[in-house]
Amino acid sequence: MYIFGPVPSRRLGLSLGVDPLASKSCNLNCVYCELGRSFKLTNERKLFVETSFIITELKQFFDKGGITDYVTISGSGEPTLALNLGELVTEIKKITDKPVAVITNGCLLSDPQVRRELMNADVVMPSMDSFMPSTYIKVNRPHGSIKLDWVIQGLRDFASEYKGRIWLEIMVVSGMNDGDNDMLEAKKVLDTMPNIEKIQINTVVRSRAEDYADPVKDLRLRELAMLLGPRAEVIGKFTGSTIHTIDGIDDAILEALKRRPMTAKEFEETMGLNKIEVEMALGKLVQGGFVVKEHFNDRDFFKYSK
Ligand code: SF4
Repeated sequence: MYIFGPVPSRRLGLSLGVDPLASKSCNLNCVYCELGRSFKLTNERKLFVETSFIITELKQFFDKGGITDYVTISGSGEPTLALNLGELVTEIKKITDKPVAVITNGCLLSDPQVRRELMNADVVMPSMDSFMPSTYIKVNRPHGSIKLDWVIQGLRDFASEYKGRIWLEIMVVSGMNDGDNDMLEAKKVLDTMPNIEKIQINTVVRSRAEDYADPVKDLRLRELAMLLGPRAEVIGKFTGSTIHTIDGIDDAILEALKRRPMTAKEFEETMGLNKIEVEMALGKLVQGGFVVKEHFNDRDFFKYSK
């Protein structure tokens, strides 16, 4: 399956995920990645999944009365690596009036073709965890061909060309990019990009690629947001719509877990299921070896077991 969820997104509400990659493909290897380590980094764009396969699944979702706040192109890695990204945005907009969001790590915004392909999206959400080369390398561990200067220039070019909404995310990791100097450098650069509507400060909330990628406390996140100025906000709790899963509870849960670890409570909140239904489905998936339970940050997460 190439669509998953809807999943609870603290930034978008209820988000129906579209995965144009099918398995993890990324040009970064972020220490906090929810999908685990990127074993083979790639920075080459190619066709991973035919657009028609994805559109067929999306049509089925909406034909069955599926509800979502956003259709979000993200999935198992970096979606701008998909050569059919622009076509996908155009085709999704033909079948739904729900806003289309694209979550990207921004590395390929230096490519004018990628910027053109994003023009029809309603929201583009680039992440940019550091504006200092040594920290960028430590936190994001980029493919060898990626240079931070190009990434920043690509973001600047995109911000001046794009007419939709840009919400930039900074993922803060304890002891890595949570210093005043990190945020002041980010502010210096981002102040030259007034078209970025929001700067969203986030931290590690799910299981991650490296055990040392620890979250930052709420108070510190708020201090960092203040350093960035009025466009900055700390990402809060999920506040989206609730759906009612019609059928295939186990499949729906499994597809969502392939893309991110989730708690049982999150499934209850987004799928309109009661506690027992969720516990039964997760119990079956754990017993079958498809899913494992992992304790992180005071919560029990369920994670796809590859
Ligand atoms: S967090 Fe995103 S950009 Fe970073 S390695 Fe994972 S998929 Fe790639």
